[in-house]
This record gives sequence, C-alpha cells and structure tokens, in this order.
Amino acid sequence: MPERARIGDSGRRPPVRTCVGCRSRAAQSDLVRLVADGALVTPDPERRAPGRGAYLHPDPACWASAERRGAFQRAFRARGRLDTSRAAAYFSGGPRVGGGGRSG
Ligand SMILES: [Zn+2]
Repeated sequence: MPERARIGDSGRRPPVRTCVGCRSRAAQSDLVRLVADGALVTPDPERRAPGRGAYLHPDPACWASAERRGAFQRAFRARGRLDTSRAAAYFSGGPRVGGGGRSG
C-alpha cells in the first residue's frame, strides 16, 4: 500500500496505532508490531517485516485480551488457527506493569 514518508515535516504527529488488546490508541513507537508468518504469529519489534501487521502494547494483559477476543484472527484475516506460542512467550516475558494480582 502506498505510504508516503516525508522527512523534515515538522509539526506532524507521530503515527498512532490501535492496540488490538485494549483497543486504545498509542504512538506506534509504544506498541509492538506483530506479523503473521503463515499461521505463526511473530513479534516484529523493528517493524520491518512485510505484510499485514497488528499492534499491541508490550503488556501481558493486552496480549491476554487480544488472544481471548480472537483479535489476531481478525487482524491477520486468518481463516484457520494461528500459532501464537512464539509471540506469547515474547509478551509474557515483557516488562511487568504494576504488581497487582488482579483476576478477571
Ligand atoms: Zn494495549
């Protein structure tokens, strides 16, 4: 898809993406890009992989809600089952936010 990138265009806001987990918008740089390599969902923190991407906070809670709602199926337009084990390991090993033992 055509995407214009102008250099030195000050005054423009940074790109904003929607987290597929909590559905809130955040700067693209605050989110981790995910791509589907076949059925394998793979983190793409450098945002260099081609193809359709999904964005998610580096937060296990966002990961969990994205998985529960089938957000990746939608984001990648996947028809079959996706293998999210690799990305799950990436996100579960990410920085812990807070220390609460909230369940729900
Ligand atoms: Zn989020």
